[in-house]
Amino acid sequence: MSTVLDKVVILEPMNPNKSTALFGGKASGILNWNDLAYPHFYNHREQIRALFWRASEVDMSADIKQFPNLSNEERNAFLKIIGLLATLDGPQTDIAARISHYSTDPSVKSIMATIADQESEHNHSYAYVLSSVTNLIEQNESFETGRKDEILLKRNERIMEVYNEFAANPSILNVLKATVYTSLLEGLFFYSGFAFFYNLARNQKMVGTSTMISYINRDELQHGRFISDLFRATLAENPEYNTKEFTDWVYDQFRHSVEQETIWSRYVLGEIDGIDLVEMEGYIKYRANKMLRLLGLSDIYEDYTDNPMKWIRAYVDNFDDTKTDFFEQKSRQYTKTSDLNGFDEL
Ligand code: ZN
Ligand code: ZN
Repeated sequence: MSTVLDKVVILEPMNPNKSTALFGGKASGILNWNDLAYPHFYNHREQIRALFWRASEVDMSADIKQFPNLSNEERNAFLKIIGLLATLDGPQTDIAARISHYSTDPSVKSIMATIADQESEHNHSYAYVLSSVTNLIEQNESFETGRKDEILLKRNERIMEVYNEFAANPSILNVLKATVYTSLLEGLFFYSGFAFFYNLARNQKMVGTSTMISYINRDELQHGRFISDLFRATLAENPEYNTKEFTDWVYDQFRHSVEQETIWSRYVLGEIDGIDLVEMEGYIKYRANKMLRLLGLSDIYEDYTDNPMKWIRAYVDNFDDTKTDFFEQKSRQYTKTSDLNGFDEL
């Protein structure tokens, strides 16, 4: 049985500024970025902060006109997928804050505060998109999906169990489990939803919404990188949990999540032109392998080291500092209104 962690005091001058452990250690609460237990966390901080954006910067005027002209299947999938995304970003705002309450490293608290803020903007962006394209009744229905849709409830079952167990019983083991699910969430659970919007965009539909989705996607990839590092460092500090039993648990969660994500993608994308469900399943497996490697584990899907969904690479795989992604190229023309006054050039 893993010991339950105490909520950390806010300021304790008797403790050192450099924390003695990520969880269950000692720290004064004073944060000096130049004297960290894990100096590379500063790079995560800078990369995550650099992504700042607000939903209201994205121009929805073309999407408002296009939404009524989507097929019934596309509109239904659109509303269901926004419903799904809201079930991820709402709780994610909270879990980021809660993990930080139990961390004894002030750099982790600070990075988690930025992540929580970004999750809160993601969640807000769904309300912003829906209020642009549809009436209040449909907006509310979309947000009910996570409470009422059987397939989505089943799909979210384990994440709910693991997050709620951490909230009730915040031990080191449950922190590790919550970070595994955060990594699944950031690196896998969003991606059939993202694929739906990128598929619309490549058919010149709902490009405003897809631009926003691409900003969310970019954030989630950075969050996933930090969470994986946090997981590895926490496990290294607590080697008694680095057991075959725990590693098997992680692999089992990944296998289960891939199954659930595949069932969901068939359910929600089955009627959508342009999305090949076999390719989608391969893409989900590819994402699982990628996140497992970030966690310091091995691939579980042998033939999925490369992304089998070729067309999506133009949208997702180019998010880094050196390349310009698809929407950034387009955004100067018609997406981010702040670009119109040259704000981004400053
Ligand atoms: Zn998010
Ligand atoms: Zn995130």
